[in-house]
Amino acid sequence: MEKHLPSSLLHSLQYAQGFDANDFIRVHQQNDSIVSIRTNPAKSINIAQSVVQIDAKVPWSSNGFYLTERPSFTIDPLFHCGAYYVQEASSMFLEQALKQTCDLAKSLKVLDLCAAPGGKSTLIQSMISKDSLLVSNEVIKTRVSVLSENITKWGAVNVVVTNNDPRDFQKLSNYFDVIVVDAPCSGSGLFRKDPHAINEWSEQNVMLCSQRQQRILADVMCALKPGGILIYSTCSFSIEEDEAIADWLSSEYALESMPIQLNEEWNIVESKSPKANAAGYRFYPDKLKGEGFFLAAFKKNKEDKSKGESTSKNSLELMSKTELASIQHWIKDISNLSFFKWKDECIAVPHSKLKEIILLQSCLYLRKVGISMGAIIRNELIPSHELAMSTIVSNHINTIELSHDQALQYLRKTDLTLDNTINGWTLVKFGGLALGLVKVMPNRINNYYPKDWRILNK
Ligand code: SAM
Repeated sequence: MEKHLPSSLLHSLQYAQGFDANDFIRVHQQNDSIVSIRTNPAKSINIAQSVVQIDAKVPWSSNGFYLTERPSFTIDPLFHCGAYYVQEASSMFLEQALKQTCDLAKSLKVLDLCAAPGGKSTLIQSMISKDSLLVSNEVIKTRVSVLSENITKWGAVNVVVTNNDPRDFQKLSNYFDVIVVDAPCSGSGLFRKDPHAINEWSEQNVMLCSQRQQRILADVMCALKPGGILIYSTCSFSIEEDEAIADWLSSEYALESMPIQLNEEWNIVESKSPKANAAGYRFYPDKLKGEGFFLAAFKKNKEDKSKGESTSKNSLELMSKTELASIQHWIKDISNLSFFKWKDECIAVPHSKLKEIILLQSCLYLRKVGISMGAIIRNELIPSHELAMSTIVSNHINTIELSHDQALQYLRKTDLTLDNTINGWTLVKFGGLALGLVKVMPNRINNYYPKDWRILNK
């Protein structure tokens, strides 16, 4: 498809640092399709069993890989196991920003404010310590389901998914150690991947996006602790959404720019904002293997005038000893977890985070908390899909390893016939990783794969 880049975009970019019009136009005319994945360090993957073919490492990422071509991820059971996330390579630079600006060994409270579908959240979760908590928020209700699904597949217990407007976080003043704002933007960085986005682009939309970005940042800034880190990113090339926002943050909130060390071979362009000289990092598709992206990191030095950290008098309904006894054998290591009842389900969260969850519950709309283990009915746990996908599930649950065809049958939620089964709840696995649950009955096997997630194509 012939791509005509908007001349007003090209004109405005002549002032952007590192912009080379000829190379930029040329790379947009080529039909290069770059596909990359980021593997889940909590779920070791045997790539030989996957449909993906690794080409090379993404240089700025520990777990990122370019693929030789785009496979059908839908027919890869390992994709459904949460063994990897399909993520655009430039975005994986968030890893460097986190590593170089935060002490990731510490117990951190991290907010990913604009989180759906979950690319940055799954990356953040892989970087933070077990003792940290990630609040993964998405304001648009219809996008929270896909976010929750991706977080569920990732399997971690230290994540809370919320569905709130940025201004709701004002109730948590001076609370988060790190806030990531991967802002909605005019999307010029994705023109190569999605040529239709070119028709949606206008100078007016760039201005609207820039105003919205300021509004989102202004709403959430008081929730960042003094000494806390703000990471701002867009997939737009426009200065109005990138360096101009960095200038605005520097003057409005006296934020300190946090430089990120680059390896020269990465070909990432370091820019300086015109007024505050704040460092920003520009990704041009003609200079590196990735799409358009911008990232800047800042430290907040001032305490917010509003009162200190909020507290809540609310509490959660903890589980009784009998209930705990009925779930114990489902879990690998119960010692660092706490359990409570929420919407008729039994929820597992890191023990050290219980107080935080009580507080979050009192001021935010929580859509998913830790790992929902399932419902306890007559002292028996009816295990949930979330538990099956999680990294806390016991290694001693009945397991059946499926072939590729059987795994696809399971994911299509069709009837399964399996040999050598033991009656009762059984984890079905592919490549050693859980796909979900079945219940083996004397005369049939019930498939408990979530109906909304099933593969529909043949
Ligand atoms: N961080 C995501 C990832 O890596 O998968 C991508 C986020 S996307 C660039 C921006 C997100 O901001 C979208 O999910 C969008 O729904 C959300 N959004 C749109 N308007 C918003 C607003 N006014 N406040 C906060 N978030 C908004």
